Amino acid sequence: MAIFRAPRGVQDILPQSAPVWVQLQSTARAICERYGFAFIETPIFEEAALFVRGVGAETDIVQKEMYTFEDRGGVQLTLRPEFTAGIMRAYIEHGMHTWPQPVKLYSLGPAFRYERPQAGRFRQFHQFNIEAIGEQDPLIDAEVILLMWRYLQELGFDRLSLQLNSIGCPACRPPYVEALKSYYSGLRTSLCSDCQERLHRNPLRLLDCKAASCQALLQEAPRSVDFLCPSCAGHFQELRLLLEAAELPYELNPRLVRGLDYYTKTVFEIWAEGIGAQNAVCGGGRYDGLAEALGFRSTPGVGAAAGLERLLMLLQGHGQAERPSAALAVFIPLAGPARPLSLKLAEELRLAGLPAQCTYGDRSLKAQLKSADRLGAQYAIILGEDELAHGQATVRCLGRSEQVQVPLARLVDWLKEQAAVPAGERAVQ
Ligand SMILES: [Zn+2]
Ligand SMILES: [Zn+2]
Repeated sequence: MAIFRAPRGVQDILPQSAPVWVQLQSTARAICERYGFAFIETPIFEEAALFVRGVGAETDIVQKEMYTFEDRGGVQLTLRPEFTAGIMRAYIEHGMHTWPQPVKLYSLGPAFRYERPQAGRFRQFHQFNIEAIGEQDPLIDAEVILLMWRYLQELGFDRLSLQLNSIGCPACRPPYVEALKSYYSGLRTSLCSDCQERLHRNPLRLLDCKAASCQALLQEAPRSVDFLCPSCAGHFQELRLLLEAAELPYELNPRLVRGLDYYTKTVFEIWAEGIGAQNAVCGGGRYDGLAEALGFRSTPGVGAAAGLERLLMLLQGHGQAERPSAALAVFIPLAGPARPLSLKLAEELRLAGLPAQCTYGDRSLKAQLKSADRLGAQYAIILGEDELAHGQATVRCLGRSEQVQVPLARLVDWLKEQAAVPAGERAVQ
C-alpha cells in the first residue's frame, strides 16, 4: 500500500520550525495590543455566496481558487480564501457599527486557495490579518501600515520597502479603467492570453501581470493617481503627509492594484529582500465598498494581511531558527518501583513550571542516558534499586559527565534551585 503524503500544496510545520512559527504569532499579538487591535476568531468556512459577493465574482480567487463544497445539509460552503469578507460579515452580524468606531480587529489563522504551489506559497496558508472598520480618516490607514511595518521590523527585517498607491473610488475609477482599456485595446495582440481576457473581465489586473510581454507595456500605461477625484486625492495627500510625519519612507508605485473588487483609495505592499520575484510580505488597503457589496449600509474600512509561511521561509533563510527548548531533567527509572516515583517527581517539577521528561520502556541505562542527552536535558535522574534502597537519586550532569547523590526527599527542591541558576553556571554540587 502506498504511504500517505500531505496533499499537494500544503505543508507540515515541524517542531524545528516551531520557535519561529510561535514567534510570528506572539509578536503579532503583542504589537496589536499596543495599537489597540482586539483579537477576533471567525469560522474557517463561510457561505460560498459571502465570498462571491465580498471578494467579487470576476476575481481570480472566486473564479479559480476557492475550495467550495456542499455540506450534508446541501449548503454551499467555502474555506475562507482571505479574512476580510468574514470579518465584515461578523461586524454586520453582531452590530459592531453601534460600538465606538473604528472597530479594530486582528486575526491569525489558516486560509485556502487553489493556487499553483511555489516557494513560500501554499494552498493552505496562514495569515496575520488586521482590519479597522468604520472610519475613513487617513490617520487609520497610516496606523495600519505602521503596525505592519513595526511587526516586520520586530521580527528582524531591516531592509523593508513600503509601496504605496491610490486606486480611487467608484466616482473616479471608471474613467481610469476606461483609459486603461483604451490604452491596452490598441496593444491587444501584444498581451499574454490571460491579459486579453482580463481586458474585458478585470482591466485593473492588467497592471500586475508578471508576463514579460505585458511588463513591457506597463511603462506608458495610465496611472490611477492621475485620475483621482478631489476627495480621493485629498485622502491620499494626507496619508502621505502622515507617513512622512511618522518618518516612514514610501515609494509611489502606480502598478500596485489589488485583485479584489471592493478595494478603494489606499493600496500598499511591504516588500522584503531575499525572496526573489515574489517579495511582497504584506499587502493591504482600503475597502470602503465592501459593506455595501454585502448588503449593509456604506461603511469604510482598511486592513492588511501578512502571510506567515513566507515570513517563516525568510526568517529561516536568515538562520534565525532555534532549537526547541530542552528539558531540565529526564528521569530514568531502572527498577520497577522507580517508575511510579519517576512520574510523580516529574509531575512535581512540571507543576512548578519546569520542563521534565521520563524515559520509556525497558532499556539499558546507556540507551536511556543517550535519549536524555538527545532531549538536551541538563540532568539525568537515575533511579535504580540501590538508589531506592538508600533513599537517594543519582543525578548526572549531562554536559560534564559528573554525578552526585541527592536525597529523594530533597530532589525536587534541589532541581528547582539549579533551575534558578543560569544554565551555563549550574553546578552538580
Ligand atoms: Zn475618488
Ligand atoms: Zn499579461
